[in-house]
Amino acid sequence: MSQVKQIKVNAIKNGTVIDHITAGKIRKVLDILHLEGNEVVMVGMNLFSNKIGRKDIVKIENKELSEFEVNSIALIAPEATLIIIKDFEVAKKAHLQLPEHIEDIINCPNPKCITNSEPIISKFKLTDDQTSQVRCLYCEKKYLIDEVKIKK
Ligand SMILES: [Zn+2]
Repeated sequence: MSQVKQIKVNAIKNGTVIDHITAGKIRKVLDILHLEGNEVVMVGMNLFSNKIGRKDIVKIENKELSEFEVNSIALIAPEATLIIIKDFEVAKKAHLQLPEHIEDIINCPNPKCITNSEPIISKFKLTDDQTSQVRCLYCEKKYLIDEVKIKK
């Protein structure tokens, strides 16, 4: 049993695996990743998971995520696990965490917010990590993470 799992996880030689993405969120995750179009990418959708029921998973060969990409994915899929593969081995495994301060990652949905008319770096604070609610530090409006647009 554990050997089967091992083979699945180690299917790429070098690269990144994002596992335990809540089923249905993979499209948003792929949107965030700055893929050039020539990477080897494997996507699994609605796979069975003991941990979270149904999950999505993505494996990208020869790619390490930038801090921006990791933080952005944490916003969309905070339950995901990030796995770095080196030479078919798991080199690093980490649970994603919602960043408390979110700078320059999301656009404020409030059209009257100053960040939408001036060249200002958007700043949000995580106000509720259960519901993934964030608050814009400029206009003070609160949004659920699903309501905001993630910059690319
Ligand atoms: Zn705002």
